[in-house]
Amino acid sequence: MKNIIIAVPHAIVKNKPLKDEIDDHPFDYAALRAANIMNDVLSISHKTNLFVSHTPRHTHDLNRNEGIDCDFRPKLTKVLKKIKNSKTDSIVLDIHSFPSAHVNLDVYIMDNKGYENKNAGEIVVSSRTFDLSMALIAQGFTATYLPGEKLMSICSEARKYNVSALLIEFNEDLSDKEIRKICNIVKNWLDGDYEDIIIR
Ligand SMILES: [Zn+2]
Repeated sequence: MKNIIIAVPHAIVKNKPLKDEIDDHPFDYAALRAANIMNDVLSISHKTNLFVSHTPRHTHDLNRNEGIDCDFRPKLTKVLKKIKNSKTDSIVLDIHSFPSAHVNLDVYIMDNKGYENKNAGEIVVSSRTFDLSMALIAQGFTATYLPGEKLMSICSEARKYNVSALLIEFNEDLSDKEIRKICNIVKNWLDGDYEDIIIR
């Protein structure tokens, strides 16, 4: 049984997106729906802790360092301190969503390990994360793994306390059934070990 923190920093959504809002993507329209399904699936065999933002992204972006003192972030910091160094027993899943007009994929996953490696010319790829994208593809989803960006504040903070972290982006057109299938693939993946590889 693992400790799983499910974070939804961009959960606040207005009822109906306007066309220009879709272009700007001010809200993650499907993130809370996906996070609730993820919580439902993972809580069967793991201890889950759901953190849902009540702050609109344009007020304070909780996935940026300037949002670290806002909303659920101080509570998240407290939990991370409590579980620090539990790299293989704990993981933070930072849940987001994107409009299908933005990216032609069902799901993509990111960590930002590559950006945190100080050695020039090295990209650290999490082989476990790569395995997850391969598992998603094997199950018929269009998926990819990206090293991510250094601005991903929630994953960065988790890693600061030596807790594994992963950002998952869901296509907003996915049905509940498809999201559930993805969450089950994540659940199976969580039962393996975690290690990193270095690509030069
Ligand atoms: Zn987001």
